[in-house]
Amino acid sequence: MIAVLKQGTTDQQQASLISWFKDMGLDVHVSKGEFHTILGLIGDTTRVDIGLLESLSIIESVKRISEPFKNANRKFHTEDSVIDVNGVKIGAGNFQMIAGPCSVESHDQIIEIAKRVRAAGATILRGGAFKPRTSPYDFQGLKADGIELLLEAKKVTGMPLISEIMNINDLDLFEDVDIIQVGARNMQNFDLLRELGKTKKNILIKRGLANNMKELLMSTEYIMAGGNENVILCERGIRTFETYTRNTLDLSAVPMLHELSHLPVVVDPSHATGLSRLVPSMALAATAAGADGLMIEVHNDPEKALCDGAQSLTPDQFDEVARKVRKIREAIAE
Ligand code: PEP
Ligand code: MN
Repeated sequence: MIAVLKQGTTDQQQASLISWFKDMGLDVHVSKGEFHTILGLIGDTTRVDIGLLESLSIIESVKRISEPFKNANRKFHTEDSVIDVNGVKIGAGNFQMIAGPCSVESHDQIIEIAKRVRAAGATILRGGAFKPRTSPYDFQGLKADGIELLLEAKKVTGMPLISEIMNINDLDLFEDVDIIQVGARNMQNFDLLRELGKTKKNILIKRGLANNMKELLMSTEYIMAGGNENVILCERGIRTFETYTRNTLDLSAVPMLHELSHLPVVVDPSHATGLSRLVPSMALAATAAGADGLMIEVHNDPEKALCDGAQSLTPDQFDEVARKVRKIREAIAE
């Protein structure tokens, strides 16, 4: 349920209304807009007498929210949220390019790629240290050593980092990692999500391979209900009957998620297609569709990559995509 307060409501009136809701066992999410303040009520609102609420002099309107996700809901927070990653902002017109290898492989590999993608305009460096691989015999990532190498790349280039967590027991290793990625395979690892909700870390959560948007937003709710509102959504393709591409990029998720939620939406065209030659066109299409950022896999020697070489761009290819993305951004700017 949301209650929109009238303009001119004093802080004291607002506070006493909030404490009335809290006495009913409800959590209250406050969203202060330019003209109105919206109180989002979370919990069992069946006890709230809508008629009584509407009759209060400070209430403009009251509405029940039918969607099961609350904190991420745009009705709770009408303006776009901006996630501030150490000064690099995503959302509400702030667009960022996240780039880097699927996995960190060596010191020279990550440093070289980091320098190249930064020069091409990337603003956040990606690199997996803990890799969720389908086969237990495949490269599983450099783990703690990989995080160390990422931190070195951060020092050299000044770029904030994103890296995937698979187990909450590794959380301490992510202290200086600027965005923690929850991968597609862990999108419904509810214990992991709940624990991340207790932190103040920026979280990028990827849509699961076979999950719909409502499920993505409900997973997001696990993080946000814990008090962590620093969440970025990521569309990375879903599994369909199509076999020519690794996944099927659901670009309609970009405007749909924007309609449903105030959180930024990033698109990963690399995992969505699995084919480097398709990445540029999907990156441009995602940009045109209104994504708040792109996450693209880049490798200095894709043929020898230990993970996802087939979908990785070379730094030169990334440079060309980044230039075209900037043109699309200009073209769609109002
Ligand atoms: C990744 O980003 O390296 C990754 C494993 O992605 P996803 O979870 O989307 O498969
Ligand atoms: Mn990958």
